[in-house]
Amino acid sequence: MKNIVILGSTGSIGTQTLDVVDKEGDIRVLAMTAHSNIDLLERQIRKYRPRAVSVNLPEKAAELRVRVADTGTRVFSGPDGVVECAAMPGADMVVTAIVGIAGLDATIAAIEAGKDIALANKETLVTAGDIVMPLAEKRGVNIVPVDSEHSAIFQSISNQRKFLKRIIITASGGPFFGMSRHELAGKTRFDALKHPNWTMGAKITVDSATLVNKGLEIIEARHLFGLDVDSITPVVHRESVIHSMVEFTDGSVIGQLGVPDMRLPIAYALTYPLRRGPVSEPLDLVKIGRLTFYDIDHDTFPAVNLAKKAAKTGGTMPAVLNGANEEAVAAFLRDGCGFLEITELIQRAMEAHRPVMEPTVEDIKAADAEAREVVRASLNK
Ligand code: NDP
Ligand code: MG
Repeated sequence: MKNIVILGSTGSIGTQTLDVVDKEGDIRVLAMTAHSNIDLLERQIRKYRPRAVSVNLPEKAAELRVRVADTGTRVFSGPDGVVECAAMPGADMVVTAIVGIAGLDATIAAIEAGKDIALANKETLVTAGDIVMPLAEKRGVNIVPVDSEHSAIFQSISNQRKFLKRIIITASGGPFFGMSRHELAGKTRFDALKHPNWTMGAKITVDSATLVNKGLEIIEARHLFGLDVDSITPVVHRESVIHSMVEFTDGSVIGQLGVPDMRLPIAYALTYPLRRGPVSEPLDLVKIGRLTFYDIDHDTFPAVNLAKKAAKTGGTMPAVLNGANEEAVAAFLRDGCGFLEITELIQRAMEAHRPVMEPTVEDIKAADAEAREVVRASLNK
């Protein structure tokens, strides 16, 4: 029996993790967390009977406490409640499926408590990879990626890390692949939320449309696999069948393929180093027929280069990239900013920032707050 905690159980990754739990049969959920969706969390409590849950919004937590009084599940609230769940005694692994830098403290708490991490919350490594990776090493904790590209890279490297030369990270290109900046100017959240291959939470779906997601993933890969960002090459692969590849010193390239279904990398992370029964449809290459590859159009989608620049500057700069993006995407999702403005706002926040090198978690949070302020001030002008 494996005991897990799911941070963000009501989201896209959280609910798909529970699908995998249903299929596997020998995984027990000890704790779960949500931001505000107590209707779904109540159903999850009644089905999985966790010891504890945490709801971010205190008034929602109070309501849920009354609703589930008959179950014996404790209901915590606020950031301390998430940390309480992340460090739950008896848990072997914590699935970090909270969206945004909001997942950082809980991920650190889980690592401090010695829990292995199934890492979906890429923003944690983007903002604080230089703190989180050494901490995991010190605590002897495995960080197994859930992000499909990183799971593919992890699987492709296998035990050959010392021969790794380059990572080829694939990108679907999102819903606006092939369009000009002129065409992108009028795009709304309804257009951006139509991803061709994946059904995901709103924030990451917008990130896929701007290609900020690929930028964040390059920084995530840098921390997970220890290569500099110039050795991580993004390539557009429209079919999302090859989830990423690695090139070894001899020129050999190994990739991982599968249908685009997040339950595959989630199951791999939960059962690593084992593989279990099928969790997705089989891959039918003949039906797909053709796999296509293209360069990134950096003039139209500047996000990848912005992310590489932030990674090269280092210190608090990646946190500024991330914080400005989170704030701009939130504005875009309430029609408060245009599609092209998202990357412009990121650039503005990065230009305004004087990075702190070797930052503490507090420095990172201050940089995040500063970036959000730059974005809000620009939008209020
Ligand atoms: P969703 O928006 O679908 O879910 C987010 C989860 O986090 C929900 O449970 C939500 O609760 C909770 N949450 C939101 N805000 C906060 C907060 N401030 N504090 C605590 N909890 C919060 O996101 P996804 O599942 O799509 O993504 C989760 C993470 O996984 C992201 O970092 C994303 O980049 C990464 N990822 C996602 C993929 C996907 O296919 N979806 C693929 C690869 C990576 P509530 O429901 O109550 O709002
Ligand atoms: Mg991904």
